Amino acid sequence: MTQDTHNKNTDNTQLHNTADCDVRQRFFIQDSPVRGDVVRLSRSYAKTIAQKPYPEAIKRLLGEMLTAASLIIGTVKIDGRLSIQLQSADSDSLLNWAMAECDQDGIIRALASWKADNDEQIEAWDNMTQANEAFAELGAQGQGVLFINIQPDGGEPYQGIVERSHDNLADCLAHYQKQSAQIPTLINLASDGLQAGGILVQMLPRTFEETMEAEQNQDAGIDDDLWTRLTILTRTVKASELTTLDANEIIYRLYNEENVVAPDPVELTFGCTCSREKCEMAIEQIGEEEALDIVEEQGGIFEMDCGFCAEVYKFDKDDVQAIFAE
Ligand SMILES: [Zn+2]
Repeated sequence: MTQDTHNKNTDNTQLHNTADCDVRQRFFIQDSPVRGDVVRLSRSYAKTIAQKPYPEAIKRLLGEMLTAASLIIGTVKIDGRLSIQLQSADSDSLLNWAMAECDQDGIIRALASWKADNDEQIEAWDNMTQANEAFAELGAQGQGVLFINIQPDGGEPYQGIVERSHDNLADCLAHYQKQSAQIPTLINLASDGLQAGGILVQMLPRTFEETMEAEQNQDAGIDDDLWTRLTILTRTVKASELTTLDANEIIYRLYNEENVVAPDPVELTFGCTCSREKCEMAIEQIGEEEALDIVEEQGGIFEMDCGFCAEVYKFDKDDVQAIFAE
């Protein structure tokens, strides 16, 4: 009895407590080139999708996209932001576009634009419940456009075009990682409209030194089937587990036969990068004459609202004139 209690306590202190949290939990399989991350989104996700009256299927798709952005930024060495963007190629599509973003500090936000202008369109959304149904609105496989945008702080932005190779976001992204970076990657994403979660596992190329060392120790071929084993294990995780279990519980359930090392998790939170200064820059782009016309049309106040966070920025005639007087 005493020993049981003792063991239990030891286990609890070894695991980081990430229940009901918004986190990215990294893990490594010891003495192997395998690295992975589990993302769990709860409050940050709820806040994001509360900004607009999104149809259920879009809520879930945004959950998957936020999870994916939070996972993939963990694999790139940048200070900046990474966004995943979906763009319909068809003007009749019910989903116009969607984007989700995560920065190096774990600040996430997302936004989507969809059509619900008539009863037919509203009913079509009412009949959709899954993320993949919203994803299918991009058009048939091969149609629609998927991007990964990377904006390093103070650096040149980079855009990767993700091939629409599969009927779901996770497989398209895994395919992209494998094609573009030549890194075998497993990605699993899930969202139930209330919570979201996912896992990414990668087998990194060994460095020259690591290969030499492995050959010297004659252990280069010892665990050839590790990747096959991890692939099979990772596919067993259920969507309901990814959206409800603690990040470390997911890692434990999948890989308890392996030697897993998990550093401290990274916290993820909802946040927005909008500002009055950015609105002023946008007004500058419009031009003074047109901006003043808008002030007049809108009854004396030019209102700019942020779709990501619902913040409203107001500019009257004097404000607009001040922008151009500078
Ligand atoms: Zn905002």
